[in-house]
Amino acid sequence: MTQTVGIVGGGIFGTTLALRLAQAGVDVELLERAPTIGGLADRMDLGGYQVDRFYHVIVPTDERMLGLVDELGLTDQLGFNPVGVGFWIDGKMEPFNGIGDFLRFSPLSLIDRFKLGMFVLRCQRKSSYDDLEDVPLLPWLEKQTGKNVVRKIWKPLLDSRFDGKHDELPATYLWARTRRMNNARQGKSRAETMGALRGGHQTLIEAAAKAAEAAGAKIRTGVPVTGLTMEGGAVTGVATDDGDRTYDLTIPTLQPPGLKFLLPEPLKPLLDLYPQRYQGVVCLVLLVKHSLIEHYSVNITDETPITTVVETSHAVGTEHTGGHRLVYVPKYCDTASEAYGLSDQEVYDRFTAKLAQLSPQFRHEDVLAWTVQHGPTVEPVHPMGKVPRVPPFDRGVDGLMLASAAQVYPRLLNGESVIDLAEDVAKIVAARVKASA
Ligand SMILES: Cc1cc2nc3c(=O)[nH]c(=O)nc-3n(C[C@H](O)[C@H](O)[C@H](O)COP(=O)(O)OP(=O)(O)OC[C@H]3O[C@@H](n4cnc5c(N)ncnc54)[C@H](O)[C@@H]3O)c2cc1C
Repeated sequence: MTQTVGIVGGGIFGTTLALRLAQAGVDVELLERAPTIGGLADRMDLGGYQVDRFYHVIVPTDERMLGLVDELGLTDQLGFNPVGVGFWIDGKMEPFNGIGDFLRFSPLSLIDRFKLGMFVLRCQRKSSYDDLEDVPLLPWLEKQTGKNVVRKIWKPLLDSRFDGKHDELPATYLWARTRRMNNARQGKSRAETMGALRGGHQTLIEAAAKAAEAAGAKIRTGVPVTGLTMEGGAVTGVATDDGDRTYDLTIPTLQPPGLKFLLPEPLKPLLDLYPQRYQGVVCLVLLVKHSLIEHYSVNITDETPITTVVETSHAVGTEHTGGHRLVYVPKYCDTASEAYGLSDQEVYDRFTAKLAQLSPQFRHEDVLAWTVQHGPTVEPVHPMGKVPRVPPFDRGVDGLMLASAAQVYPRLLNGESVIDLAEDVAKIVAARVKASA
């Protein structure tokens, strides 16, 4: 008997899963509540141009992403550019691009720079994180790089990335982040190189959905799932406004804060094994006449209401924005925070006040269009000592598999790690469907 699989959510995760299952001959249907697939990587209209809702780049070692780009015939849409990173520190912008800038980085003494450099090298060489899992992050950083580097660099960066709440993080977090950022550094100079697809990650997601449909998958947009249906302790499919849909196996790809609204009461305890805290993001997106920052992104170590500034035009070019520049100004915070509840105008006023400090050339009259985007659940905060680290996909409920970006660990959440996980889940599901045929 043919087994049917229903996927809830058409972000990168759900779409990749649908593609791989359809290619394996599985009868699969994907339901996405929005009118388009894409999720966090979707596009939007800004000033008459189609742009990324959030900022998305690819680093040269993103093997799974680049593999999919190649497989779907999108290589000619991909470009890599050298991009720069800046540090806003002690009220000044310092370039931080490659070894030369690192050696000249005056906010840190020579000895502190040496300690920081050795730390990055050690992270790069260290392939296992087992011994970091129960080690609190800040004390570990002090041991590795010294009190000064923590005071001047790490603590302010963590404060702005986690809205001041990072005591529960294990050392693993920064080990994984340092390794990912180092993957963007190429060649002898170790300057950063980043890639982007014309049209953003969404180009890849749309192509994956098209290929999935060609392989037999049904992709349905504009279909919000209102809950999972159950019978005799087993999940039988999903409920939608247009009626129930029945599957042999249902895979919701939402992270727990969204998933909890879909799970029937008896299944809600399944969420206990997941992290309980999730970061959201409030992001001001500006279309401006001129470049504001000479770097792709800025690490801010002074007191700040924003986490960073990302001028994506350095990586994605300006062909698709009529020569104008795109600047993203995000603040990571949870949905209960004051920042998340600000009105759009308050976000604009507060965030551009900081931007004007970082970029003396910023003028309100040069802003051609702006919008504020909210992402309530962009990443889980994995705390120290949680066992198991991530919950298994199969939780012993017939007809249900729980697989989402909240199970990516210890890697950071991005297209690469999400595709990697979705492909692994697809292999498990395809083998199970085959075995029961
Ligand atoms: C500010 C920011 C910057 C980022 N930068 C990068 C980067 O540079 N590079 C990179 O690779 N990644 C980056 N990422 C990460 C990347 O966007 C995410 O990891 C990825 O998009 C997550 O995909 P997903 O499918 O797991 O989740 P989502 O994209 O959240 O998809 C979930 C989908 O489920 C749908 N859904 C929810 N509820 C229902 C329901 N009831 N019924 C039906 N459908 C439902 C949603 O509409 C959504 O489409 C960034 C993310 C953010 C927020």
